[in-house]
Amino acid sequence: STPAKKTATNARKKATAPPTYANYIQGAWVPSKNGEVFANHNPADTRDIVGYFPHSTAEDIDAAVAAAAEAYPRWRLVPPPKRAEYIFRVGEILIRDKEAISRDMTREMGKVLKETRGDTQEAIDMAYFVAGEGRRLYGQTTTSELANKFAMTVRDAIGVCGLITPWNFPIAIPSWKILPAILCGNTVVIKPAEDTPLSVYRFVKAFEEAGLPPGVVNLVTGYGETAGAPLVTHPTIRLVSFTGSTQVGRLIATQAADKGKKCSLEMGGKNALIVMDDANLELAVEGAVWGAFGTTGQRCTAASRLIVHKKVIKKFTQMLVERTQALRVGPGLDPANEVGPVINQDQLERVLHYIDIGQTQDKAKLLCGGKRLTEGDLAHGYFIAPTVFGDVAPQAVIAQEEIFGPVTAIIPCQDFEEALAIANGVGYGLSASIYTSDINRAFHAMRDLETGICYVNAPTIGAEVHLPFGGVKGTGNGHREGGLQALEIFSEWKTLYVDFSGRLQ
Ligand code: NAD
Repeated sequence: STPAKKTATNARKKATAPPTYANYIQGAWVPSKNGEVFANHNPADTRDIVGYFPHSTAEDIDAAVAAAAEAYPRWRLVPPPKRAEYIFRVGEILIRDKEAISRDMTREMGKVLKETRGDTQEAIDMAYFVAGEGRRLYGQTTTSELANKFAMTVRDAIGVCGLITPWNFPIAIPSWKILPAILCGNTVVIKPAEDTPLSVYRFVKAFEEAGLPPGVVNLVTGYGETAGAPLVTHPTIRLVSFTGSTQVGRLIATQAADKGKKCSLEMGGKNALIVMDDANLELAVEGAVWGAFGTTGQRCTAASRLIVHKKVIKKFTQMLVERTQALRVGPGLDPANEVGPVINQDQLERVLHYIDIGQTQDKAKLLCGGKRLTEGDLAHGYFIAPTVFGDVAPQAVIAQEEIFGPVTAIIPCQDFEEALAIANGVGYGLSASIYTSDINRAFHAMRDLETGICYVNAPTIGAEVHLPFGGVKGTGNGHREGGLQALEIFSEWKTLYVDFSGRLQ
């Protein structure tokens, strides 16, 4: 294009004010009742406002829940293979719009484009997997104590579900909840994280385009205390499904229990990656780098503890630090960058605070990173240099608490038994991994690591939609998302007896 044309395009871009988005209630796009909005910023450059979203309150939640309750009796009777047809269509729309959705996601969330494409792909995979189950919502037929009696079980819907999601997987996590929920005949209200409402807006647009009946999926944006809390306590909500921090999850569990609601929780992690003396070190270093700094360390499955055998710790540390220092940090839309910003100012301060604790209170050795990056354009974003601590004690604060940022801790161990004990010595239990070439050790570790997910010779991250995902101890409350196990969250078993004897037996 000519220079004149370029200038015109730039002027137009500047003149366009950020769009204002709406809630989706009963198949219509509506502002919050109070008319208030909040700004959604690009964490790589806070001068860039992605859009304004409804600052919703209990009134908006009431309207959305009423819409979902009204749609429920009819949706519940739509045969599951027909419900699945809408979900297949959503999958097709997401495939068509994958690039645009992923770019928007990088803009509002910060992680690099390669990763946001993976996030969108996960929602696509989930759509096809879940839709396929529409023809397989099997129950059981079984024997009865009596000759002329027949017994069986079927899956039944639960009712209106309240879904609350975090910002780190802006479309994948909502897909883990919305898709199985509606396949099972429930209707839903989703309250996405305040940092990533645009991705869910685009997801909900796909349901609208797929022709989903009004009221089956409703979207209300806003903050946790003002929009999330009234959803949890609303008397019509039968099930709350939450992914986020352990602190908020526990509060929600208490409120749900108090009102007699079902509640599924996916919460924090403090995941260990064990490197034994017989490990392929190159592979282990690559796994540790990806596990620790993928999504800028903001994954519930992040490898935030690297438990390394004393025989290889020197070599491993040197290789890891070298590799970490070479990581390119910058805006996620530039394909040359490997690590994006953290999500917001609070998170920036929180991570820097933990880095400070690591050095002062924990007296660990700061091997690289450890500071905010502000050179050039990075000054307008929330960038932190990928950080590695060495000589970290298993009980150190940075080895016990979830940091949720680009910080990892190398913890030395004497042998395999000690490695297992250290790995299990935290309050969380989501994911773990071991690098070893000894098959006996690998199976031993798989048996004894106290986590919901375990990897051998692979990092602590990377879920597949057809397998259950979730954790033990402080990470969860016994449920699993993904796989057929998700159906256990979003449906209830109903037991049916048919007596065909025609008399009192
Ligand atoms: P968060 O707990 O701060 O927020 C999660 C959601 O809850 C947001 O939508 C928020 O608005 C809402 N919320 C906050 N307070 C609320 C309240 N009082 N009532 C109702 N809703 C409320 O978590 P986050 O910062 O968005 O996400 C990071 C956390 O999520 C990390 O701890 C991470 O480990 C966890 N996480 C876990 C998984 C998993 O599957 N285990 C996956 C991703 C993230």
